[in-house]
Amino acid sequence: MNLQNIALFVGTGKCNANCAHCAGSIHRENMPKEDKVVDENLFYRTLKYAYENGARSLSLTSGGEPTIAPNSVTRTLEIAQNFDFRKIKLYTNAIRIGKSLKFSKNYLPLWQSKGLTDIYWTVYSISPEKNAQIFRIKSYPSLELIINRIHEADLKVRANIVLSKNNICNLEKFKEIVTWLKNYGVDNIAA
Ligand code: SF4
Repeated sequence: MNLQNIALFVGTGKCNANCAHCAGSIHRENMPKEDKVVDENLFYRTLKYAYENGARSLSLTSGGEPTIAPNSVTRTLEIAQNFDFRKIKLYTNAIRIGKSLKFSKNYLPLWQSKGLTDIYWTVYSISPEKNAQIFRIKSYPSLELIINRIHEADLKVRANIVLSKNNICNLEKFKEIVTWLKNYGVDNIAA
């Protein structure tokens, strides 16, 4: 078997958003109830197997939002340091990154020092109001602020644009968000 990427579900599965289309919720009953509860042996063995079978890229994702379980992310990165993953990506809605300077200053540089390379950011729109509406939260932070905080920690940011009839429903809107994100320095874009 030749693997390229391995994905781990990290954290509690709780989320600070409440999307109507959430696909993560079905995984939550099997996730730890508290941050920092990591099955270290299972993670180590899984990463070892993946690495020995060729994986050099690691995705940290969750049935919810991994940034609200920061100790679990930190510990998982420490376990991954036993191997030589070239790319380690954290999937996030970036709400906490944009809303909390303290969080961003405490954790983004720490995670970068432990091997994290990329933030994979789910984004629906260039409008914070539209993002708030789809994430079903009171307010969504400034997109420029999110990009700047990620870059300040010397991490790359890939915008994962979610396409749906509720946000990017035609080519013009798609071009608009891609142009906007490129102008604000997003390193990669996927849709
Ligand atoms: S941000 Fe992701 S995990 Fe959270 S509610 Fe939305 S789809 Fe689900």
